[in-house]
This record gives sequence, structure tokens and C-alpha cells, in this order.
Amino acid sequence: MLEKLKEGLGTFGSFFFMPQLTNPKLAIDTLRISEAKYRSLFENIDQGVVYLDAAGIVMSVNQAAEQLLGLPHDIIIGRKFADSCFKVIREDASVFPEEQQPAALTLRTGKPVEGVMGLFNSERQSYIWVVVNAVPEFRGGEDQPYQVLMTLTDITRQKQSEGKLSMASVIFNNIGEGIFVTDKDKKIISVNEAFTAITGYTQQDVYGKSAHFLQAKKNNLKSDDELSSVTGNVTSWQGEVWRRHKSNTDFPSWTTVSQVRDSEGEVLHYVHVFMDITHFKKAQEHLGFLAYHDPLTKLPNRLLLKDRIDHSLQTAMREGSQAAVLFLDLDRFKGINDTYGHAVGDGLLRETAKRIKNLVRKEDTVSRYAGDEFVVFMENIPDAKNPAKLAQKLIDTFNAPVFIKGYRLKISTSVGISLFPQDGKDTDTLIRNADAAMYRAKKEGRNNFQYYSLELTTEAFEKMSMERALRQSLERHELILYYQPQICFKTGKLVGVESLVRWMHPTLGLISPKQFIPIAEESGFIVALGEWVLQNACIQMCRWLDEGLLIKKMVVNVSAVQFLRSDFVATVERILHSTGLAPSYLELELTGGSFMDNSEQTIKALNQLVAVGIDLTIDDFGVGCFSFNNLKRIPVKKLKINSSFVVDVLNNANDEDVTRAVIALGHGLHLQVIAMGIESNDQQNRLMDLGCDEGQGYLYGSPVLPWSNIFQQLMK
Ligand code: C2E
Ligand code: MG
Repeated sequence: MLEKLKEGLGTFGSFFFMPQLTNPKLAIDTLRISEAKYRSLFENIDQGVVYLDAAGIVMSVNQAAEQLLGLPHDIIIGRKFADSCFKVIREDASVFPEEQQPAALTLRTGKPVEGVMGLFNSERQSYIWVVVNAVPEFRGGEDQPYQVLMTLTDITRQKQSEGKLSMASVIFNNIGEGIFVTDKDKKIISVNEAFTAITGYTQQDVYGKSAHFLQAKKNNLKSDDELSSVTGNVTSWQGEVWRRHKSNTDFPSWTTVSQVRDSEGEVLHYVHVFMDITHFKKAQEHLGFLAYHDPLTKLPNRLLLKDRIDHSLQTAMREGSQAAVLFLDLDRFKGINDTYGHAVGDGLLRETAKRIKNLVRKEDTVSRYAGDEFVVFMENIPDAKNPAKLAQKLIDTFNAPVFIKGYRLKISTSVGISLFPQDGKDTDTLIRNADAAMYRAKKEGRNNFQYYSLELTTEAFEKMSMERALRQSLERHELILYYQPQICFKTGKLVGVESLVRWMHPTLGLISPKQFIPIAEESGFIVALGEWVLQNACIQMCRWLDEGLLIKKMVVNVSAVQFLRSDFVATVERILHSTGLAPSYLELELTGGSFMDNSEQTIKALNQLVAVGIDLTIDDFGVGCFSFNNLKRIPVKKLKINSSFVVDVLNNANDEDVTRAVIALGHGLHLQVIAMGIESNDQQNRLMDLGCDEGQGYLYGSPVLPWSNIFQQLMK
């Protein structure tokens, strides 16, 4: 009976103390009472208890263990403790091998073993930490335990707070933000490493000092005191605080102050976390500036301009006052950019901005509108003529050359003016119309200003479409070269042929270069066009030479924009090489004035061309200003007198004087002189009397296509 009961008690029975009672009934009753007591103890104890058999299989678990492990006992019982459902880890987070776990050691050694294990709790999906005490149980006379009693004590919280504390300490010392902690009286008690890096002060420097000590005097922002003044449940404050560095310089910081309270709610500490936001503030200011300004010239951009005009027009509307928009565009800026590079172009734009700013009134707005376009807005102008005065001053200010990176640049500007209210009642219309007026100014020869008038807009559009069409003229094979003879006065024979380009426009017919060369120069297309002309003129010259025509020179016009490009000399050499024309047969006529800027770069390029064996002529000599000194330094062979002087050489004493002076000047410098535009024998004779060497004009032949036999006739 007793044996049966013992069996019935199962696992527990084995552990119970069995007094040696002689009365079996008493013995059984005592055993029952004892079993009930122990079962109650087993079930109600706070600590988790697990029994394992000699093979490590779980035989029973109490409620506390079930709760702790987060699993019902029927899942745990009957399996190995380690297998049942857990991942088991050590304190260092490595896997805890089963054979080294306390229960296994106890079973092996027969000794109690204590250890800490992390058990995966599938319900909470996290680890719980337990201290395991494994105690062996022996049957009388046996050395090997036949089962193990394992108690599990939950130390998860303790572990977590240990972890948090060490994490907090790592963060405190490694975080990029400066931290200082004060006591309740705001005396500094601790600082971190970043604090020292940011402020220059060490813990020693600041220990026991008031938190105020770290604030800059100019602090008119919310201070660290802010938090102590707030009431209620607020426990932290954030804001910008100016701080003083140990070197006595101030810097802005973004600061968070938090209170640490005890369980009674009394403030124990203040924790100040801050970062230096100097760079951030600068970047922010810079971004704010960039949103409304042009980074190159620092002038207001379109957005700010529009904003100012919008605002000002409202006042003007109310007060019935007038305002004006001046639209400036630098003439041939693209050519300068292409020739000298963008760094020089940028310098020129900066200088332009400076010159414009120097001329306007304080209340005017100067804006860089786009590329080389600037807009000046004048509010409250006394009369419509007033903007014209400023426009003229703006034009005049570019009379003085600009020096950028050692280059002497000569530029001009064209200005368009629109008036409020007559030319537009809103910002966009005023700007658009000033732009149209500026186009007209360009058309009128640049370097001038124009007021807006209605027909302008259409004209401007026409010009723009012309520019587009011109760009396509090359690939559409619409460019044609005409040739005009040049005659030696002494022999009356053909000496040279000037190539003159024409554009066969698909709808407008043959267009004169006078119309499209300026557009090509302005748009930069002249570079491609010029290369095409040079290539084809050289090819034609080779053909004539092959045919036995004794022409000494093929004369090709070169624009300043082409010439000022750094690769010009290389381009000429390449074309001579590819066409096989000897350089001595080529003469370049330098048109426009800006090649005479006398810069070292210009003179070097001219000398390189001469060294290659090419002759240089200055076209249209006598038009525009030209310094005698420059002429001495430039290695040209010939001067070409402009046809305007030739036309009136017979009737106008002034023109005759200029012609005579040019010839004398040329000869004085051992240069040849050719006169352009000779239409009559009288003109020819007069020029011969004045000592001119060569002539060109309708008298000898108009520009013609290459297959004309005029050249053969002139050879005879
Ligand atoms: P330019 O180099 O001074 O050329 C002379 C211009 O005078 C030519 O006009 C020619 O047709 C014209 N002409 C010739 N003989 C007489 C005459 O007896 N009386 C009058 N009244 N005019 C005469 P075109 O061909 O219209 O050329 C105009 C300008 O266009 C040229 O002036 C030159 O500056 C430019 N040009 C022409 N072809 C080219 C070129 O291939 N490249 C560059 N960059 N410019 C060119
Ligand atoms: Mg010419």
C-alpha cells in the first residue's frame, strides 16, 4: 500500500521525508499530509522549479516556471529542457552548449551547479535571464544522481538595468553632443568628452560652477533657466542657446535640458545635451541667401526681383507713380566666354554687376536675370526720360575696358526700357517688353538703348528665328562663297581674290553677310561658319592654282570672335594641312576692332600666324579708333581702306584727308595699302595719285561665283 502510494505520488514522492512509522495507516496519512504540503509549496513558490530525470528530460515544472518560461507545462514536460522550446545563451550572448549547462554538469558530476542562462521566451519574443541552481538527487547507495532539481530565479530586470547603465555610460562618453549634468542647484557635477571637445573646458575647469557660466553674454535667446521656470508635468526644454567657448568666442548651440526626478518627484539633476550649430546656421543662412540671390554676382535673382517689382507696383498703382524696367544684355558676351573661357566670363559678369550697382540709386533693384542679362528696376521715377539717363550712363560705363585675369576686354551693352504703367501693368509684361526693346537696341547696332514700342516684339521674334535658321544653314548646304578680285595698281593685274560668304535662305533668297554675320558673331556660330569659309576658300584656291591661274593670295575674312579663340591658329594650320594649300597663298583679313586689344595673347597669336607664313591685313582701316602704337606691335602686312572713304574721295576733302593719312601711315610702317569699293576710274586714279597700292571694287568685278571667267580675263 505504502509502495503504491509512493508510486502514485510520482515525482514528488521521491523527495519527501518518510518517517519510519510502524503503523501503516498512520504512515500513509502522514505521507498524504506531507505530499499535500509539498505540492502546495511546489506550486506556490515564487521561484521556478523544474525536475529533470537522469537523461535531462523534464519531469515536472511548477507554475512559476511555466510563467517565467512563457510556456504551458505540457509543452515542457517530456522533453529535454534545452530542446523543449528554448534557445539558451550565455551572458556574452554566445550559444550555451547543452552539455555545459548547469543541469547537465550536475548530472555528470553529481555536484550542485549554479549558472546564469538567457532563455528565449517565445511568448514575449525576447530573452529572459535566470540564475539556475541545479541540485542532484540520489537514491540510497547510488553515486549517480537519478534526477536533478533545478530552481530558476528571474534576473531579467537586473540584467536589463545593468545593460542600460553600461549602455548609458557608453553613450555618455561617445556621443557627439556635449553633455553636462548639474545638481538640483544647477552646479555642474559631470561632463562628457564631447563637452570638452566643443567648449574647450574639462571636467576640472567646470566642476561645481553654475550652468550660467557656460552661457554667452549675448544670449537673448531662451536660456537654460527656462526649464526651471516651467511648471506642471513638463520635464524638458529645447532651444537655441549661445555658449561661450574657453577661448572666449561665442557659438550657437541647440540645447535640450531634461530634469531627473526621484520617486517623490523632487528634482535631483538637470541634464543638458547640446550641439554646436555654427555650421548648420551658416549653411541655413547661405541657403536662404541662395534662394534669392545669384551666387556669382551676389545680386538678387529673378525670384527676388519679381517679388520686389510686384510689391512696388502695388504702391505705384495706389500712388499713381511711374516705374521702369531696364533690361541689359552684354554685347557679344558669348564670344568672350567661348574665347577666353568661363573663368574670364565669370569675372566679367562680376565686374558688370559692380559697375551697374555703382550707377543706380539706393532704392533701385539690380538683378542678374540670366546669363549675361541684368535687370534694373527703378521705382517712383519722376518722368519717362529719367530711365534713359541711367541707360546712357550704363552704356558709357563700359567705355572703360575691363581687366580680367590679365586680359583687357572691351565690351558694350544694349539696354531695353519698359515703363509702368504704359508698357505693362504687371511684372512679367514689363520685363518681357523691356527685353523686346533690348533686342531692338541690339538690332540698331548694339551699345545703345531703346524704349519699348509695340512693333518691337515681332521684330525680336523674327531675329530669334533667323538665328535658329542660320545654325542649320551649314548642314543644309545653304552657304555659298563668292569671290572678288583685287588688282595691283602698278601692273593692273589680278593679285588676290577675297572670299565673301552668302546665305541662300530657303524662303528669303540670297542674304547678305552684313545681315547674318553679326547674328553669327553674337551667337558664336561664326566659329563653325568661319571654319567652313576657310576650308572652302582654300580648296578653291588649290583648284585655281592647279588650273594654272597665277593668283597670289586667297583673302579670307576673319571675325574677332573667331580670332580670339585660343585654338584659332591650330585650326588654320589644320585646314592648310588638310587642303594642301601653301600658307604663303593665304591672307587673313581681320575684321572688327577687338583683336586690336593689344593683349599679349593677341600679339602672340598674330605672330604665330605670321610665323606659319600667312599674311595679315586689317580690314576697314580708318573706321573706329586704332592706336598708332598698336599698329607698330601687330605684324600685319596690309591695311584696307574702308569703302566709305573711297566713295567720297573725290568730293569730300575730309575723306580724302583720311585716305591720304592712312596711306601715309601704312607706308611709314612699310605696309601695303588696298582701297575697297572702287567703282569708277576717277576714284581709281585719285587713289593711285595718293599712292595707294591695290584696289578692289565693282570697277574690276563684283563678287562672283568661282566658275566665272572674270579671273582668267584679269590675268591677261
Ligand atoms: P568686307 O570684307 O569689307 O567686304 C567687302 C564688301 O564690300 C562686300 O560686301 C562686297 O560685296 C562689297 N563691295 C565690293 N566692291 C564694292 C564696290 O565697288 N562698291 C560697294 N558699294 N561695295 C562693294 P559683302 O559681300 O556684303 O560683305 C560684307 C561684309 O561681310 C564684309 O565686308 C565682311 O566684313 C563680312 N563678310 C563677308 N564674308 C565674310 C566671311 O566669310 N567671314 C567673315 N567673318 N565676315 C565676312
Ligand atoms: Mg574684307
